[in-house]
Amino acid sequence: MKKRLFSYTLLIVCTGLVCFFIASVFITYTNNIHFAKEAVIETARIYADLFSESTDLEAFVRAGNRTRITVISSDGRVLADTRPLDVSELANHLSRPEIKAANDGTPSAFVRYSDTLHMELIYYAVKVPSGDSFVFIRAAIPVAQVGGYLWRSVPLLILVLILVIVISFFFARGMAGRVIIPLDSVYQKLKSLAKGEVSKSPITQSYEEINRITLEIDDISGLLQQNIDNLRGEKLKLDYILNNIGDGLIAVDKDGTVSLANTGVLRIFGSSEDVIGKKLNYLTYEKALIQAIEDCGTRGQSALFEITIDGSIFLVTVKRLPDTELTMAVLSNVTENRENAKRREEFFANASHELKTPLTAIKGLNELTMINSKDESITKYLSGIARETDRMLSLIGDMLKLSELENSKGLNPVPVMLRRTVDDVKETLSSLMADRAILFEADGDGEVMAEPGHIYELLKNLIENAVRYNNNGGSIKVVVTRVNKNHMLTVSDTGIGISSAEQTRIFERFYRVEKSRSQQGGGTGLGLSIVKHICTLYDWKLSLKSKPGIGTEITVLF
Ligand code: ADP
Repeated sequence: MKKRLFSYTLLIVCTGLVCFFIASVFITYTNNIHFAKEAVIETARIYADLFSESTDLEAFVRAGNRTRITVISSDGRVLADTRPLDVSELANHLSRPEIKAANDGTPSAFVRYSDTLHMELIYYAVKVPSGDSFVFIRAAIPVAQVGGYLWRSVPLLILVLILVIVISFFFARGMAGRVIIPLDSVYQKLKSLAKGEVSKSPITQSYEEINRITLEIDDISGLLQQNIDNLRGEKLKLDYILNNIGDGLIAVDKDGTVSLANTGVLRIFGSSEDVIGKKLNYLTYEKALIQAIEDCGTRGQSALFEITIDGSIFLVTVKRLPDTELTMAVLSNVTENRENAKRREEFFANASHELKTPLTAIKGLNELTMINSKDESITKYLSGIARETDRMLSLIGDMLKLSELENSKGLNPVPVMLRRTVDDVKETLSSLMADRAILFEADGDGEVMAEPGHIYELLKNLIENAVRYNNNGGSIKVVVTRVNKNHMLTVSDTGIGISSAEQTRIFERFYRVEKSRSQQGGGTGLGLSIVKHICTLYDWKLSLKSKPGIGTEITVLF
């Protein structure tokens, strides 16, 4: 920039000087011509005043030295001339423009080429009376004489020009340097700012504008420093949290490069080296994880699955971070949870089994006692025992079904006609429906691949609930329709409905909205859990719509 500034300044100064030089030469030249013309006019007039009839012409013209004086007769003959010429041989001068002008009474100066002297001259002629006639007194000076003064002064002018250019050279260099100094200081300031050094003083006092810029830079650098400090603090906090959450956390770029990996994930994969900026397989060869991260990166498809690493079970959540190109994977160790759940399920199944045998025995013995009992008050207690044992048996039955579903190892699906199972369930529940004057309607049919027992359980639980939580005289509708290539089952009722707050909880084990009503109707609180488990087993989609006081609609998309 300094070089450019210097060159531009020098170029501008030199161009200005050269233009000025040419203009001065031109103006001086035209002025000189003008003054020369005036001198010629003046001289011609003086000579005209001095002329009389008795003038000795030879002496008269010889008085002109540098100025050429010519006396011309009224008929255009040259009578005498300052230059040593043979005047008798000269052509008639009446047609000369200065003679013509003087003859017409409008004398004027002319610059023209002289055929006699072969040079350019400035001419002026005056018409002077002489006896009865008149003569023309003409004065002339060579143009070269005018230019001669000028050309003599040109070397001096050129010398001055060169001197001024040399001075301009040093001036331009000094100026370029002076302009650059404050800019250079701004540059230095920005450089130190980039290194993280913040100073708080204006660099120069001589340039108001530069001062303002540096003060502005100071302000910005102060703010930047503050933001950097805040960010550093936040990063430290974040790093601390990320490295102490226990879960493994990893963020991967679109091109598969690791951009974040906390100590948890390094521990899980037993990696001791820094994997940031490296490809994912520097950290792990776990196929399912790599594939899920790739799928999420390219198609934005989230994933939730489990992987086992060195005997530990990890629940992996893969998600695309919104507004970024990053894919995030969180690995949570669920080994303990799984083991606890397994232990719970085993206890659940064993306890149910163990309870079922003595209860069946109690039920049998109770029935025998009832048959043999003649005492009505005792029979009343015995039928109470029978009712509670039935309830406990159905509860144990549901618990066993649930643990069977949970521990199910492989399915044996066969084609099952839905309508047929609906009719079977209707048959089973017919007395219950009749008791409550409930209208039952079934529509549509379809075949699904499943274990028949599972379809029966699913339909029995849904339809039984529709009866149990219906109003007396209400109605139930079971419809099978086709959605694309799949079948869809809808069980709807005009019952008491479920509030939206309860809707998320009713699929939990033993969760009942109204415990008393559920118990009275023989409910165990496990019906919808069984339905949900069956749907999960076959990957069927279960959904619920309900409004308190209007009714409930449960849909299964097979
Ligand atoms: P329960 O054996 O108590 O019926 P479920 O798991 O089958 O247990 O149902 C859980 C709870 O959901 C029930 O206690 C009941 O409050 C509510 N519920 C289930 N189905 C319906 C329905 N069709 N209408 C209203 N409430 C229902």
